[in-house]
Amino acid sequence: MVKKIDHIGIAVKDLEKAVEFYEQMLGIKCEGKEVVEEQKVKVAFLPIGDTEIELLESTDEEGPIAKFIEKKGEGIQHIAFRVDNIEATLEDLKNKGVRLIDEKPRYGAGGAKIAFLHPKSTNGVLIEISERE
Ligand code: ZN
Repeated sequence: MVKKIDHIGIAVKDLEKAVEFYEQMLGIKCEGKEVVEEQKVKVAFLPIGDTEIELLESTDEEGPIAKFIEKKGEGIQHIAFRVDNIEATLEDLKNKGVRLIDEKPRYGAGGAKIAFLHPKSTNGVLIEISERE
């Protein structure tokens, strides 16, 4: 069902400063940025091998990333798993009793279809299921 770790999402206060750290200290190049209005977030993509780091800065005080940082500080916010068929995966998880945040896929950064699983069902980890071309 799960093909690989698609990306790791990291909540940051200052996207530019965070990108600078990854590029200059670790030599990981940023391959693009995108504002995802729906999630009130500005995203930077930093591919490493066949996965990537996704840096997330909130564009709104009420956004999920702003709230995450307020509660827990900067850090790993979610882990995304790549699947071939997100609808079938969600259906399967639902049937197995996994608590879903999103019953239907929504738009994710980079044109992916994404959905989140509730941390109560996943040992406290916010898991994103992601399908992309
Ligand atoms: Zn993500």
